[in-house]
Amino acid sequence: MLDINLIRKDFPILKRQVNGKPLVYFDNAATSQTPQQVIDVIVDYYSNYNANIHRGVHALSQEATDKYEAARHTIQKHFNANKAQEIIFTSGTTHAINLVANGFTKLIDNGDELIVSALEHHSNIVPWQMLCEKTGAKLKVIPMTLEGELDMEAYTALLSEKTKLVFVNHISNALGTINPIKTIIDQAHKFGAAVLIDGAQACPHIKPDVQALDVDFYVTSAHKICGPTGVGMLYGKEEWLNKMEPYQGGGEMIDQVTFEKTTYAGLPHKFEAGTPNICGGIAFGAALDYMNAIGFDKIASYEKELLDYGTEKLLEIEGLKIYGTSKNKTSVISFNLEGIHPYDVGTLLDKMGIAVRTGHHCAQPIMTFYNIPGTIRASFAFYNTKAEIDALVSGVKKAKMMLS
Ligand code: PLP
Repeated sequence: MLDINLIRKDFPILKRQVNGKPLVYFDNAATSQTPQQVIDVIVDYYSNYNANIHRGVHALSQEATDKYEAARHTIQKHFNANKAQEIIFTSGTTHAINLVANGFTKLIDNGDELIVSALEHHSNIVPWQMLCEKTGAKLKVIPMTLEGELDMEAYTALLSEKTKLVFVNHISNALGTINPIKTIIDQAHKFGAAVLIDGAQACPHIKPDVQALDVDFYVTSAHKICGPTGVGMLYGKEEWLNKMEPYQGGGEMIDQVTFEKTTYAGLPHKFEAGTPNICGGIAFGAALDYMNAIGFDKIASYEKELLDYGTEKLLEIEGLKIYGTSKNKTSVISFNLEGIHPYDVGTLLDKMGIAVRTGHHCAQPIMTFYNIPGTIRASFAFYNTKAEIDALVSGVKKAKMMLS
C-alpha cells in the first residue's frame, strides 16, 4: 500500500491554490509534477557544479560529467538496456522520434512501407510522413476499433517483406489504451522490420524491459515521469544506432574534423551534438530513482484503483460518454458531456482549481475517427486521491448544470 499523504508531501506544488481553491491536478499525461527530491538535485547542480561536460579538465566539469554519465547508467538499468551507449539523451520523445526518422533516411528506399497506428500522438506521425516524402516510402495505418484498441488482424495483414519500420505507442495519450506491443514487435520482426515504441505515456506507469521486449527503439520524456522538461531519451539497439546517420552535426558528435572530411564519434556521442541539457539529464536519473523507490508495482495497482473509481463515478453523470473503453488501459479518462463543448467544461473546471486537458491531445486522427472536436481528459498519477476524483465529479456536474 502507498502512503499517499506522505507521498503528497514530496510535491510542493500540490499545496498551492488555484483560483482560491486547492489545486486538483489531473493533467499528468501532459506533464507530471516534480518531487522535492528532484528539485533538490536541480538546485544542487546550479548551486554547486554547473559546468560543461566531457571536455573540461577542471573539477566542476569532471563532477558534472560523472553525474551526467551516472544518470545514463541509471536510465540504462531502469530500462534494462544491454549497454549504456544504447541510451541517447534527447530533448524528449519528439526529438527522439525525429532522430530515428532522420537516421533512417538512407536506410529506406522508394516503395518501402512504414506502419503507424491510428492511436498515435502527432509526434509519432509527422516525422515519419516527412521521411516518406524524402524517400518515396508509403505510410500504412493500423486501424482502431470503437473501444480504442488496435485492430490486430488488420495489422497482421499490413505486414509484408516491404515493411521496414513499425512505430506504435505503448499507451495512447488520448485514450489510455495499453497496446499489445510485444505481439506487435514479434510480428514485425518476422518480416525483418524494426519497431519503435513511443513510451511517453507508459513510463509513468510501467517499467519497460527493452531486452525482454526485444524492441529496436524505445523513446520517452522525463517530464512525464516526475523529471524536468526538455530532456528525454532514445533507447536503440546498438546495431541499429551504428547503421543510422547522425541527425545533427556539431561539437561533441565528432571524432576528427577537417574541411575535406569529418568522422563521427562512437555511440552515444554520435547522436548528441552540442551542449546537452546537463542538469536535466542528471535530474532525469534522480526522477527514476524517486519512482523506483516508490515502486512501479505499487504505483500501477493504486492507479488502477483510481481509474476504476473515476470511471464508475463519472459514468453516473447522465449524458457523459467515455472514449477509450478497452479493459487494457491506464490512468486516463477521456470524456465529453452530450451537447457541450469540451473547452467550456475545462474552463469552468479551472475556475474550481481543477486542471484537466481539453482538445484533440495532439491526436487529431482519433478525434476524426470519433467525429468529435476533442475531449476532456483527466489523467491520474500516483499522488492523486479519490477525494480529488470526487471534486472532479462534482465539478463536472456543476459545469453541466451551468452549460446546459
Ligand atoms: N507521444 C506521446 C504518446 C505523448 O503523450 C507525448 C506528449 O504528450 C509525446 C509523444 C510528445 O512528448 P514531448 O512533447 O515530451 O516530446
